[in-house]
Amino acid sequence: MKLNIDISNEIQLFKRLISWAKPRLKVLIPVALTTIFLLAVLAFGIYEERMYGLSSQMLFTHIAYHRAGNPIPFDMKLASDVYRPFYCLDCWYNSRWLEIQENNIVPIFGVDQHGEGLAPVPQYTFLAAAIPYNSQRSLGVAGLQLFTIDGSVVFINDRFQNETSWNDEREALSTLVHELIHAQGGLFASPSDQPELFEPRTQGATTEILASMCDRQQETACKSFWMVMFQYSKAYVMVNLKTQNLGWFYELWDKIFFLNTSETRLHDKNIRYWATRQEQYDYLITAYSLNPYLKIVIPALAGMDEDTGLLYSAALYCDNTDDPACYVTVEQYLKFDDTDYLLGWMKYLLPWKAMIP
Ligand SMILES: [Zn+2]
Repeated sequence: MKLNIDISNEIQLFKRLISWAKPRLKVLIPVALTTIFLLAVLAFGIYEERMYGLSSQMLFTHIAYHRAGNPIPFDMKLASDVYRPFYCLDCWYNSRWLEIQENNIVPIFGVDQHGEGLAPVPQYTFLAAAIPYNSQRSLGVAGLQLFTIDGSVVFINDRFQNETSWNDEREALSTLVHELIHAQGGLFASPSDQPELFEPRTQGATTEILASMCDRQQETACKSFWMVMFQYSKAYVMVNLKTQNLGWFYELWDKIFFLNTSETRLHDKNIRYWATRQEQYDYLITAYSLNPYLKIVIPALAGMDEDTGLLYSAALYCDNTDDPACYVTVEQYLKFDDTDYLLGWMKYLLPWKAMIP
């Protein structure tokens, strides 16, 4: 007897399934693996709130990574000297990119015209420049902000222009937003009563400003926002896995999904460097990722926004100290409505239980 089975339809279906899945593998594999991990956690009876939070953060990390996209090479359009644009008397730049971005970003800090309400009177810099930093600073510090008698100064590491591993507009943009927020003064500039919150508050506010820029159709800012969310959630996963002696699993996960070959070389080099400077490394992770995430962004999304950068002080550079406007207390917190809006359903993946109010 001859079996006459026609499976050409099934083959067609299979082929169509493959061609649908192929371009989506970058998303499908992580989702599948995270699902398997979550199911394994449930099946092996080691279900804990913490493990559940961890697997949802892993899923969050994958999605944020996907939305952040690839590094965006860019040109800072450096000038050979500082220049002053015609429209202001006391502002200096050495990069057209810095000039354009500062004029784009600072107005968003204001209160009127749909500003974010971060600063009552948004402050511009006296000088914003990309410069080479000295010695070891050059290799590790992205941005600096200083108050001088002439006004606020922001320096951006010129490696953003000159070194391949730094040349990413998403990173440069989040660095510039961060330093410009320091320049607003108040709780963003001084250690105040909670010195440990000074950097997290600034970094948390950076997240919301990038989200606001994204909602204003600035696509690079969208990528930058998701890159920052990716960094927060990955740091959260790292710290939690390491405290459960699963650091090896974190390394494996990181290398399989988030690092290409050349990035892995740099990553391993950094690991060798930080191995003898654990305390310093912990500080950086806590100040720039964990605390902004768990103490500022997530509590703010939960409606607890009293730590999100109230500018209680007078403007730092008030020429006329008799002017009462110099001393107005602004009782307005930075709302995280744009972050909330962009996260959408992904809010359900956030580690709410872990937030530190
Ligand atoms: Zn800072």
